Amino acid sequence: MAPTRAIPRIKQVRAYSTHASKDNEQGADCHDVQLEHWINGVSPEPIANPMSVHPKYAGARTSWGINALGTCVVEVEADDGTTGVGVTTAGEPGCYLVEKHLSRFVEGADPRDVERIWDQMWRATTNYGRKGLPLQAISAVDLAIWDLLGKLRNEPVYALLGGKTKDRLPVYCTTAKADVAKRHGFAGAKVPCPHGPAAGDEGFRANVAYFKAQREKVGPDFPLMLDCYMALTLPYTIRLAKALEPHGLKWIEECLPPDDYDGYKELRQALLGSSVLVTTGEHEYSRYGFRRLIADRAADVLQPDITWMGGITEARRVVAMAAAYDIPVIPHGSSVYSYHLQYAFHNCPVAELINLHPTSDEVVPYFGGLFSDEPLPKDGFIDLPDRPGFGVTLVRDGLHRPWARTAEESAAQYAVTSQADSGLVGDETRPRMGI
Ligand SMILES: [Mg+2]
Repeated sequence: MAPTRAIPRIKQVRAYSTHASKDNEQGADCHDVQLEHWINGVSPEPIANPMSVHPKYAGARTSWGINALGTCVVEVEADDGTTGVGVTTAGEPGCYLVEKHLSRFVEGADPRDVERIWDQMWRATTNYGRKGLPLQAISAVDLAIWDLLGKLRNEPVYALLGGKTKDRLPVYCTTAKADVAKRHGFAGAKVPCPHGPAAGDEGFRANVAYFKAQREKVGPDFPLMLDCYMALTLPYTIRLAKALEPHGLKWIEECLPPDDYDGYKELRQALLGSSVLVTTGEHEYSRYGFRRLIADRAADVLQPDITWMGGITEARRVVAMAAAYDIPVIPHGSSVYSYHLQYAFHNCPVAELINLHPTSDEVVPYFGGLFSDEPLPKDGFIDLPDRPGFGVTLVRDGLHRPWARTAEESAAQYAVTSQADSGLVGDETRPRMGI
C-alpha cells in the first residue's frame, strides 16, 4: 500500500487590518459602519447596549467605540504557496498578537495538527488571555489553518469535519425590518431591543410597542426574536419576556452581561413553561465559558461567534458538549466560518445572517467587501459552493500589515518549530504515562 500523501508545512503567517473609517466597508467588524447605519442604533431606532446607562453614549454605538478595533485578517501560507484565510474583529492589536506571539506555534507547523497548534496558542496566552481579544486572534489563526487544510486536501471544511448532516441549511435574518426579511424568504427575523432599563417605564412601553409593530408587519406565524445586546437586568428581562410572549416572542437574546452566569440560570428558570426561549453566548469564549452555560442549563440556545470564541477547533468541542444536553447551537454572524460548522453538526439547525445593508432593505455580504465571492442566502437557505476550504477569496484592497515580520524571521521560526515537531528536541523516545 502506498504511503499517505505529503502535506506542506506552514511557511508564514501574516496579519492584516482594515478599518471602515478608511475604506467605508465594515469588513469582519459588523459594527464598523457609518453613522446612519441601522446597526449603529441611530436610525430608525436606538439599540440598547451596555452603555445605554450613560446618557452621553446612549445614541450611536460608535460613539463609545463599539468599532474601535476594526478588522483583523490572518493569512497562512504553506510551502507550496497555498494560502488560507481567517478573520476576526481584533484589528491592529489582534495583528500584534498573531505576528509577535502566536506565529511561533504556526510557522513550521504541519497544518493538520490543528489540535496541537490550538492548545499551544491557548496555553501560551493564559496569562493575559482566556477571553476577548486574545481568543479572537486565536480564532482567526485557527480559521486560516482550516481554510488552508481544506485547500491542501481539495475539500470544503464541512467535509473535513465529517460531512453534511443536512441537505440545506436554513437562515434567519437579524435586521431592522422583519417584514423585509420575511419578503426575502428567511426562516425568521430578529430585531434589536431599542431601550434599556435606564429609559424607565416609558422605554419599557416603547420596547413592547416596537416589538408589537414588527409582529404586526409579519403576521402571527413568522418566527420573531429580540436581541438585547447585554443591556438589561434580570427583573427587567423577565418582565419584558412576559410582556412580549403574547406577541409571539420566540427567543430573547443576550439580555444580561455575559459574566452574569447566575443571572442567565435564574432567567431560564423563570421562563421555563413560557414559550420564550433564552439564548446567549455571543460574547462567550472557549469550551470553559460555554461549559458553565451548558452545565447550568442557563440557555435554551447557544450562540457562539466562530470568529471570536476560538475558531472551528474550539467550536466543535462546544457543539459536541451542547449535543450531550440537547442544546441547539445557532452561531452569531460568522458567515462561511459558521455555515461549514453548521452543515457538519446535527445540533446546528439554522444559521444567522446579520443584514448589514445600511437600511436592511437588501441582502448583502456579512463581511462587506472583504471577500469577492461570499455566498449569500437565497430563499431562506444558504447553499455552499463546491470549493475547497471555506470557499471564499480574499480581496486585498485596503489591507495593511501593521506588525509585519521579515521572511527571514519567519524562516528562522519555521526551522525551530518544524524541528520541535520532528521529535529532535527533548527526550521523546522514553514513553511516559503523562498524567
Ligand atoms: Mg446578538
